[in-house]
Parts: sequence; structure tokens; C-alpha cells
Amino acid sequence: MTSFDARLAAIPDTVVLTGGAEMEPHFTDWRRRYSGRARAVVLPGTVEAVSAVLRLCHGTGTPVWPQGGNTGICGGSVPGPSGAGIVLGLGRLNRIRKVSPEDDSITVDAGVTLQAVQEAAEAADRLFPLSLGAEGTCQIGGNIATNAGGTAVVRYGPMRDLVLGVEAVLADGTVWNGLRSLRKNNTGLDLKQLMIGTEGTLGIVTGATLKLFARPRSRVTAQLYFTGTAEVLATAQAMRAAFPGEVDALELLSASQIRIVQRHFPQLSLPLPDGAAWSLLVEVVGGRSEEEMLDSLTAALEPMLENGTLVDAVIGQNERQREAIWAQRHTVTEANVREGMGLTHDIAVPVARIGEFLAEAEAMLAEYWPEAEQVVVSHVGDGNLHWIAMFSHADWAAKPDPEATQADLDRRAYDIAHGLGGTFSAEHGVGSIHLDEMRRYKAPVELGLMRTVKAALDPKGILNPGRVVPE
Ligand SMILES: Cc1cc2nc3c(=O)[nH]c(=O)nc-3n(C[C@H](O)[C@H](O)[C@H](O)COP(=O)(O)OP(=O)(O)OC[C@H]3O[C@@H](n4cnc5c(N)ncnc54)[C@H](O)[C@@H]3O)c2cc1C
Repeated sequence: MTSFDARLAAIPDTVVLTGGAEMEPHFTDWRRRYSGRARAVVLPGTVEAVSAVLRLCHGTGTPVWPQGGNTGICGGSVPGPSGAGIVLGLGRLNRIRKVSPEDDSITVDAGVTLQAVQEAAEAADRLFPLSLGAEGTCQIGGNIATNAGGTAVVRYGPMRDLVLGVEAVLADGTVWNGLRSLRKNNTGLDLKQLMIGTEGTLGIVTGATLKLFARPRSRVTAQLYFTGTAEVLATAQAMRAAFPGEVDALELLSASQIRIVQRHFPQLSLPLPDGAAWSLLVEVVGGRSEEEMLDSLTAALEPMLENGTLVDAVIGQNERQREAIWAQRHTVTEANVREGMGLTHDIAVPVARIGEFLAEAEAMLAEYWPEAEQVVVSHVGDGNLHWIAMFSHADWAAKPDPEATQADLDRRAYDIAHGLGGTFSAEHGVGSIHLDEMRRYKAPVELGLMRTVKAALDPKGILNPGRVVPE
């Protein structure tokens, strides 16, 4: 045993895994797309233990690969390829510390799952609104580190808007307790922002105080069908105008996406009306009775059905129908994995330019990769498109150089988004896979500032090295 291993093993309240099989799940991400290796997986059970681990790693220059629920999409949650360093898993920090309904806040350890936070809020008759497909597994620390988005951003904003305070351990082991529930606090730099969306490169999040909201009295959900994106965008606008501050979700699916769900999960899909090329899931929530909300929604949709803006509409009349509408939306990831090789792009463009992006991207695909199909799942109210080029497994397997094909396709898709004032990563982050895009699309002054901040907080470069900010 080296002196590093012995000192690691002596840290109280800490589980250290060094066997191949027990470390394996921490070396590959949830979707099994990225993998790496490390000398140990370290699972501290207290903030003091996290601090002691970082002090040791800082003193020895040992890389630290922070890991939450390991559901991240950009390869940032698994260790690098060299085998050096440790995976620091936060899952044993899993206490709900305090729920304050009178303050509309909740304070939790970083390793608590998102679903456990939603449930703790609900038990106190409050709402924690962040919601995403991986909520049973992803952790609050990971949600903060990735500034997670999901389906309710259109009303409540991304994770950045939901965090009141953060507790973090810095690269040298210093514990910073920034857990405050203040809504207003103009006292210099807002340091918690350094930990939000920076993917564990500036510090380890160990706890957070989050905003809670009143639970809406009623919720009405509808699935609307369209021939074109102009009609989708006009309807999204009309919904916001008809339900000011009450639109909770605006989720766009292409007909190609619905057909994929139909093929692999027929029991979870909804019929696609003839002529429908796009479908929009709309959810409105509010303080009025459900009956009133249903009436208002029906009244808002009727003229659109009459004037042909809508091909068809299905309104969830009860909880079972609402769940059926959401089930189709929540099944897309699993269905796409079964369908083929989907090259997914987490694009955002200004909402007004969504139609242009989709038209240009589809034309690009038809020109260079006619064998692939455009598939779209979109948080359309935020301008966020998961734009997918779907290849059959056979077509993909026949590619002589799949990596080069992916790089070429990515570049063309991101160039279109960038040209429209958009970004290559809306909610998934940068991780290890978007370093080339950071170099290509970020201004030198932005990269320079990021490097300055990184050097100030992590001078030895031990925290998630090589991720987010390119060397
Ligand atoms: C089915 C599915 C659906 C998804 N849907 C969405 C969606 O709609 N919107 C969305 O935004 N994302 C989505 N994601 C992506 C993913 O769930 C989010 O990025 C999530 O926030 C990651 O949390 P995690 O705990 O799994 O973090 P991990 O994957 O473990 O880590 C992600 C990054 O955060 C760092 N990190 C983790 N914990 C900490 C910590 N405590 N301190 C410092 N750094 C840390 C890691 O080093 C890594 O860089 C989805 C993923 C899946 C599998």
C-alpha cells in the first residue's frame, strides 16, 4: 500500500473502493457512452471527509473526478483515460437537512437525488419544480454542477434560478458554507454562481439551499398536432398570452420521434393524426379550479382548430390521460436507444429562429446523410432543441470512420446553430466532449477569463482536469 492509499484509508467516514468489479459502475456513465479509469473510488459520508480527501489530493497533486448520479450526457462524470486520480462519489451525502415551508426553502446534502427533493417538498405541501427524465438517479450536486434544465424551465428557469445558497469544498479542502435562504443579498460577488454549471472544475458541491414554490391547485395537459413549425411557434406564443405565468411545459416532438416511440413502446404512444408533422405537449398550471382551467384551454384552442392552425388536439381530461400524454414524452430516450444510432445535439437558438434552424439542419442532413432521419425532441419554450440525426444500426455500422462522420455532422449542425445566434450546449454542459466547440465558438476573451478563474480556484488543476475549459 502506498502512503497515499494508507492516508486515504485512514480518513474517517469514508468508503474507499479499489477492486475492479466494485469500481466498474463508477467508470462508465449511465448511458454507457463514455468510460475511464481511476486508482480508487472514494465515497465520503460527511463534508469533513470530503474536505480531508481534497486536502490529501491537493497536497499530492492527485486528480479528482467528481461524480453524482452519473447520468450526465457530456462525459464529465467519469474519470479520464489515464487511470490516475480518484473518483469522488457524493452519493453517501444524502440527508435532507431542513425543510422550511415558512421560508419556501429546503436545504439538502449534494448527494440527495432530485426525486427525493421533490418528494420532501411535496410532503411539506410545496413544489420543487426541476424535473427531468433522470430524476430518480441524478443528484442535486450534479444538477447544480450541470445547471440542469428539463421540462419546467419555461416557468421556473433552470437550476441556476432555483439555488439560494451553496456549500462547497474548494480544491485545497477549505469548506465554504454559503448556505443562505436570502432572496436578496447584494454583498459583492455572488460566489455560488462559481459552482453552478461549472461541472466540478472549481469546487465540490456538498450541500445546497433551494427555492420551494406553492403547489399549483390544478394542472391541465394537452397534446397538439401541427403541419409546420410556424404554427407550433404561433401556438406556443398564444398559450403564453392566454395563460400568463401559468404555462409549465412546452415540449415539441417531431412526427418522426413519435413514430419511433410507436415502434418500440406501442402501449406508451399516442395515435398520430394524418398530416401531422409536429406535436406540442402543453401543460398549464394555476390557482384556478381544474374545470376552469380546462374551459380556458378549450376556449383558447377552439379557434385554432377552426382556422387550421391545429390539425388535432388531445386534452387530458383526467390524471390517467395526463399521465398517458407525459408517458410518450418520457419514453423517447429509451425508444431512441432501441431505434438506432442517434447523434444528439443539445442546441439552443433564439425562439424566433427555431423554424430556420430546423429547415437548415434538415436540408443539411438530406444533402450529406440522406440515409439518416431528422428526429426532434425540444423544450421549445426555451429555444432548446435536442436535434437528433438518427441512423439505423446497420447504416452506422457500415460507416468506415464513424468518429469522423460524427465530427463532420456535429460541426455542420453547430455551425448552423451558431450562425443563428445559438449555442452548441443548452442544458447538458461541456464535459469532455465539447472542448473543440469551446475552442471554436467561444470568444478568446471568454476562454481567457474562464482560465483565470480556474487558475485562481484550482491552481494545481486537480478538479475534473481537462474538462469544460480547453487547455
Ligand atoms: C434519461 C435522461 C434524461 C435527461 N434529461 C435531462 C434534461 O431534460 N435536462 C438536463 O439538463 N439534463 C438531462 N439529463 C442529463 C443529466 O441527468 C443532468 O445533467 C444531471 O444534472 C446530472 O446529474 P448527476 O447527479 O447525474 O451528475 P453526474 O452525471 O454524476 O455529473 C455531471 C457533472 O457534474 C459534476 N458533479 C456531479 N456532482 C457534483 C458535485 N456534488 N460537486 C461538483 N461537481 C459535481 C461531475 O463531475 C460532472 O462533470 C438527462 C439524462 C438522462 C440519462
